[in-house]
Amino acid sequence: MLDSISKIPFNRYPDITATPLREKLAEFLNVEVGNVVVGNGSDDLIPYIIKIFEGDRIVISSPTFKMYEFFAVLEGVDVTDVPLDDNFEIVNLEKYVENTRVVFVCSPNNPTGNLQRREKIVRILKTGVPVVIDEAYHEFSSENYLDLLDDFENLIILRTFSKAFGLAGIRIGYAVAHEEIISAILKVRPPFAMSSISMRIGEIMLEKYDLVKERIEFILEERERIRREFEDITYPSETNFLLMNVDAYDFLLKRGIVVRKLDGRLSGKIRVTIGRREENDEFIHSLREFIDRVDNL
Ligand code: PMP
Repeated sequence: MLDSISKIPFNRYPDITATPLREKLAEFLNVEVGNVVVGNGSDDLIPYIIKIFEGDRIVISSPTFKMYEFFAVLEGVDVTDVPLDDNFEIVNLEKYVENTRVVFVCSPNNPTGNLQRREKIVRILKTGVPVVIDEAYHEFSSENYLDLLDDFENLIILRTFSKAFGLAGIRIGYAVAHEEIISAILKVRPPFAMSSISMRIGEIMLEKYDLVKERIEFILEERERIRREFEDITYPSETNFLLMNVDAYDFLLKRGIVVRKLDGRLSGKIRVTIGRREENDEFIHSLREFIDRVDNL
């Protein structure tokens, strides 16, 4: 990687069309270059996706990733929240398509960790409303919905190199959609959003996907190890994190373990991201200590 980066002419602007990385992605996904747009992380693409469609609002299902709402507010677009049901599944979103720019479905969902059902997503897509399926965590899950692009021109799949690829600091995300949607996004976004270095790193990682696969296997094993350890307080997960019904944020923080403290409907729960084996061991040990203490109160 370092060798390849050292050959980049730093005084030149990056490739304006990001073609080398888009070509590699297209090959990787078995789609055409015209079906892919890359961004400085997938966050970077969300405001442009909101911008290109018409309508007064976006539709989200909380609890979910906060950036859909953040960018809608920035664009002056209303947000209709149709909360997930008790199983964290989306409900009847096909009824909320009037005046809707985009329906955001996060699958697997952050922070609940579950996958959304194919038939429910298809019901929304059949209305013709633009639908984003945010698949940031799909590499850790049993299902993805890329194949629905063959049937639906109103679908946008959003993905990232920040999770399974382990490149959160490098900032690479991408959207896959019908050509018309991709060219509409390309028309409204600044041309040099991504650095030459990030793009080159992305290309190399796609060439070395076997390494990524090994890492995914490891994370899945570790995820199951932690889940089994705390089975009664842990939700099923199709991601690289676990949602746990335990209010241990402060206790863990004192031991130098930072997990996500959740609020609102999920208050009293934590989200823990699977780490290295030693980190996971330390987490298991500390959480066990917390639970034993609470049990002895
Ligand atoms: N979508 C979801 C569901 C996420 O959880 C995240 C990262 N937390 C992102 C998108 C953003 O990823 P990126 O680093 O590519 O901007």
